Amino acid sequence: MGMPPQMQAYNHSTPSDVHQPQTRICILGGGFGGLYCALALHRYLKRWPQPVQVTLVEPRDRFTFTPLLYELLTDELKPWEIAPSYQQLLGHTSIQQRQATVNTIDLPNRLVKLHQGDSLPYDYLVVAMGSQMRPPAAVGHQGQALPFSTLADVWRLEQQLADLDRAAATGLVQVVVAGAGPSGVELACKLADRLGAKGQVTILDRRGKILRAYPEPLRQAAAKALKQRGVTVYLGAAIQTVDAATVTYQYQGQTCQQPADLVVWTVGTVPRSWPGLDPLKPSPLGQCLVRPTLQIPQDDRVFVLGDMAEMPIITRDRRPGSSAPMTAQSAYQAAPVVAHNIWALAAQRPLRSFGYVHLGDMLTLGRNNAVVCGFGLCITGRLGAVSRRWAYWLRLPTAHHRWRVLRHWLSSIFITS
Ligand SMILES: Cc1cc2nc3c(=O)[nH]c(=O)nc-3n(C[C@H](O)[C@H](O)[C@H](O)COP(=O)(O)OP(=O)(O)OC[C@H]3O[C@@H](n4cnc5c(N)ncnc54)[C@H](O)[C@@H]3O)c2cc1C
Repeated sequence: MGMPPQMQAYNHSTPSDVHQPQTRICILGGGFGGLYCALALHRYLKRWPQPVQVTLVEPRDRFTFTPLLYELLTDELKPWEIAPSYQQLLGHTSIQQRQATVNTIDLPNRLVKLHQGDSLPYDYLVVAMGSQMRPPAAVGHQGQALPFSTLADVWRLEQQLADLDRAAATGLVQVVVAGAGPSGVELACKLADRLGAKGQVTILDRRGKILRAYPEPLRQAAAKALKQRGVTVYLGAAIQTVDAATVTYQYQGQTCQQPADLVVWTVGTVPRSWPGLDPLKPSPLGQCLVRPTLQIPQDDRVFVLGDMAEMPIITRDRRPGSSAPMTAQSAYQAAPVVAHNIWALAAQRPLRSFGYVHLGDMLTLGRNNAVVCGFGLCITGRLGAVSRRWAYWLRLPTAHHRWRVLRHWLSSIFITS
């Protein structure tokens, strides 16, 4: 009998496994937390005391390396480089991808109920479904603005840019970016480089600073890059409505209007809420509270990580400190801890605590321009762009994918030189 079409299976079980009960590990979400946890689990499978079946539940067919999403707009990178398919990434493993959406988690009965109707039983559960765009504060607030967090968002933006390009013979293309956080600043620089003299990019943010949570040298590099590209920045500007041609906002006590052919909405994200009938205790940010081992308080076999979890940081003197930021960096570091701890529970070994190490901050600031700050150093410009590119290359999933990308980069260096 064939597999259901949405189940990508690469099952390598041997005939001797058939009569032994399988340990079922279910991972919900195939992003930085879920996919990297699945890949880390794969490395433990040979040492597992029983046969194991790992299922990754993820509605999309491609993983997306979000920090490099901006490079698609300037054609510095190709979609296959930053968004390899799960089939390609998991093809050499025994992990199955179930291309489906989680509806609810039934903790008492150890079941994941899928939107598609059926349920998956589990022995261990990993929940890493990330975050979603911050909802608008009021109806009509966001209107026709485009989000920017997935590959599909890039295609929609590309489509609109192409339409505007065709119509632009007559005048300047006006782009408004809502939000002066990292996504807004990175996107504004890339869009300004892409549009050149044909476009004008404006950033609006209701707060008084760009990149509020970032170190001063990085903020200064970003401000310089925005200025060099002629990006106009209005801080203390609270957007009220967005319609087909205008953004209306409050600025210095007045209602102002900014013409806009295109509006991109990057005002931050909020964690996805727990998809269960039995809600977990949330943090003030809406994240699930977890123990330092990343298990939920009420069930040793359920782990939450990434943007959805308030992952406590244990300080050097082993006291609880603050929590890890909602970044790929945190989810990437948490993934192997969860994989280890599931194996440790099965093999009756000690569990590890999550220990977050901040490796620095990096932002792309236009074509071949970036700022990289960490360990007391700050590199900008072309050297920054090269450093950032290699730092991310090291973190692409699977050695096979890294090798494909490296071959492509090396061949393009030799072809263009
Ligand atoms: C444009 C952009 C740029 C970024 N740049 C950086 C950066 O430079 N550095 C950095 O550290 N961080 C960056 N981030 C943040 C980073 O992407 C997130 O913090 C990180 O991806 C969180 O990992 P996660 O595993 O929790 O969630 P994600 O990586 O978002 O993965 C969640 C997965 O769950 C899936 N999912 C959602 N709902 C369901 C459901 N109901 N059922 C099944 N699956 C579901 C989603 O499809 C997704 O694949 C950026 C984010 C964006 C959007």
